[in-house]
Amino acid sequence: MFVFPNKVCMYVKIESAILSNTSLLHEYLPIAGSPKFREGAINLLWGGDKELIARSGGVQALGGTGALRLGLEFLRSRLHYETVYVSKPTWANHIGICKSLLYPNIKEYKYWDDKLRCLDLDNMLQDLNAAPDRSVVLLHACAHNPTGMDPTAEQWHRIAEVVKAKKMFVFFDCAYQGFSSGDVDLDVAAVRLFAKLGFEMFVAQSFSKNFGLYSERVGQLTYLVQSADMLPRLASNFSTIVRQIWSNPPAHGSAIVSAVLNDQVLTNEWKETVKSMAGRIQAMRRLLFDRLVALKTPGTWDHIVKQNGMFSFTGLDANQADYLINTHHIYLMKDGRINMCAITTRNVDYVAECIHDAVVK
Ligand code: PMP
Repeated sequence: MFVFPNKVCMYVKIESAILSNTSLLHEYLPIAGSPKFREGAINLLWGGDKELIARSGGVQALGGTGALRLGLEFLRSRLHYETVYVSKPTWANHIGICKSLLYPNIKEYKYWDDKLRCLDLDNMLQDLNAAPDRSVVLLHACAHNPTGMDPTAEQWHRIAEVVKAKKMFVFFDCAYQGFSSGDVDLDVAAVRLFAKLGFEMFVAQSFSKNFGLYSERVGQLTYLVQSADMLPRLASNFSTIVRQIWSNPPAHGSAIVSAVLNDQVLTNEWKETVKSMAGRIQAMRRLLFDRLVALKTPGTWDHIVKQNGMFSFTGLDANQADYLINTHHIYLMKDGRINMCAITTRNVDYVAECIHDAVVK
C-alpha cells in the first residue's frame, strides 16, 4: 500500500461530484458494467488507436482478479482450452484461478534466472516452444510480479515470434500500468506490440494500484479480436458468465475511474500522479542499492535497480527472509520478494543494514 500525493484532493473533487449526482441511486449497473468506464479503459489500453478500439470489447470486472477469472473461465468452458502456461515464478493466484477452473494442465515457463538474477529468456523460449497445440499463455504486461523484471522490447519480439509459431492464445495480465516506467503508454508497449502483430488476445486490466482503488474492485477484461463481427458473440458469452458469478459489477470505483479517463484534464493530472509514484519507487531502489554497495554487502545487488514496479526479487532465501522477519521486523515474502513502496528515505538505512546482517550472519 502507498499514498498518492495528489490522489486525495483529486478524489475528493470527483467523489463529491459523483455523490451529488442524483442519478446515482445505487441501481444495478448493466451486467457488462458502465459503458463509459469500459470505453475509458479500452482507450487507455490502446492509447486511442481507433483500429484496435474498433476490434475490442470490454467487460467491467471485480479488479484484475475478476478479469483473469472471467477470461480464463471463458477459455476453459467455452473454447475448451486445457493447457495454461504461467511464468515461473508468478503471482500465486494465477495458478489458484486455473486450478479452480479445473484446467487439466497448468504448466510453467521459466522466467527468472536465480543465479544471474535476471530474465531467463532462452529457457523461457525453450519452454514455450515445447508447448502443446492449443495452449493459453499468461504474460505480465509490465512490472512482473514477483520478479520486477520485464523483457526488453527486443526480447518481447522474440517471445511474440515463439507464441505466434505455437499458435498460443495470449492473455496479458496488466495489473500495474504506469508503475513500471511511470508512463502509462510505455508500460503497455508489449501489449500494443502483440496487437500490431495481429494477435487476438485478452487483457486483464486492474485499476487497484494505478488508481489506488484497492477496495473498490475496479478492473476490466478487454478482448481484442480479428474481426469486429465477433464482438457481440463474445459480449453475450461474457454476460452469461458474469451473471452467474457476480451478476453486476460495483458502481462507485468505476465511476471514479470513468470520470478521470473521460476528462483530458483529470487524465493528465492522474498520469502525473502515477509518474511521481513510479519515480519515488525508482528513487528508493537506487537508495537501497547504494546503501548495500556502501556496506559492502556480499553478493551483487544491481538487479534491484534493473527491476521495475512495486516489487523487488532480492535474491534473499527463505532462511534470510525468516531472519529479517523475526529479528528485525522487516516483512517480506519467503521467496525474497520485497515491496519497494514500503521503503522510504527514513527507513532505507535500517533496511539495508538488516539485509546486510541477514546476508553475513
Ligand atoms: N495480477 C497481478 C500480477 C497482481 O499482482 C495482482 C494484485 N496483486 C492482480 C493481478 C490483481 O489485482 P486486483 O487487486 O485488481 O484484483
